[in-house]
Amino acid sequence: MPVCWLISEEGNHKPLRLPHLQTVVLGRGPETTIKDKKCSRQQVELKAECNKGYVKVKQFKEDSTGSQGGTKRPRESVSGDRESQREAQSMKAAKQTEGISLSASHSDAPKRNESAGHWSQGLKTSMQDPNMQVYKDDKVVVIKDKYPKARHHWLVLPWQSIPSLKALRAEHCDLVKHMQEVADQMIQQCPDSSSVPFRTGYHAIPSMSHVHLHVISQDFDSPCLKNKKHWNSFTTDYFIESMDVVQMLETNGKVAVKEGASELLKLPLRCHMCHKELPTIPALKEHLKSHFPR
Ligand code: AMP
Ligand code: ZN
Repeated sequence: MPVCWLISEEGNHKPLRLPHLQTVVLGRGPETTIKDKKCSRQQVELKAECNKGYVKVKQFKEDSTGSQGGTKRPRESVSGDRESQREAQSMKAAKQTEGISLSASHSDAPKRNESAGHWSQGLKTSMQDPNMQVYKDDKVVVIKDKYPKARHHWLVLPWQSIPSLKALRAEHCDLVKHMQEVADQMIQQCPDSSSVPFRTGYHAIPSMSHVHLHVISQDFDSPCLKNKKHWNSFTTDYFIESMDVVQMLETNGKVAVKEGASELLKLPLRCHMCHKELPTIPALKEHLKSHFPR
């Protein structure tokens, strides 16, 4: 029987085993290391269907009817994908997706998403994998993003081990310029680039280790684009243009990330083409079809 594990995205706690079809109640406490009082000790109920690779998540909520004053009751049942993580707020459970929280495997051991260890190290594994590489030279490698957020989404990574944007210094200027040139070549050789615009840039606060330049078509037509955080990370100032990074390195010798950048991820959903506000991701995706017909 395959096994499911709840794995902390931030590595805050040990993997928690979710036995097949058994209800596990989790919340604040030593198991999860959640200390925030806003999260109750019984925040969510998780039931794994390990053979199908998903988890049902029920969030408990204070019973305000008075009859059982103060007791908790399940609020609603959702399957464990990234949208439901926001639904369950403090607790994180997810299907197999990037930054994983939960994985179904055929082994008894907790499944790490990447052989290199913690999921945040996954790019280091992918950049060495010839099946992921689409271009390489002596300085950089280009891989396909494993969870592309658009029809075309690549990552340009230097061979040199540079953990993140914050570690870039003036001496990296030529390398960063080269990454930009390679990104431009990728765009040029893409047949769709005559009809769909592209952008090249870095996330202000990346989730994955090893500095990487996103090269992404602006259709955002991809099932992997699932939530507001994904959307805003590419369409607000959270996405720092490659040119701006070069300029900051040239003038300041480092990259300044504005304070409160993470707040940008909470902004309302707004079309990046016409600035119309849309209420939900499905509505936004429907709207995007008008700008980028297939
Ligand atoms: P960020 O760190 O936020 O700039 O983005 C990291 C990017 O890496 C995301 O677009 C993910 O879809 C992508 N990603 C996550 N894990 C992997 C992996 N193992 N191989 C390739 N791309 C990945
Ligand atoms: Zn629009």
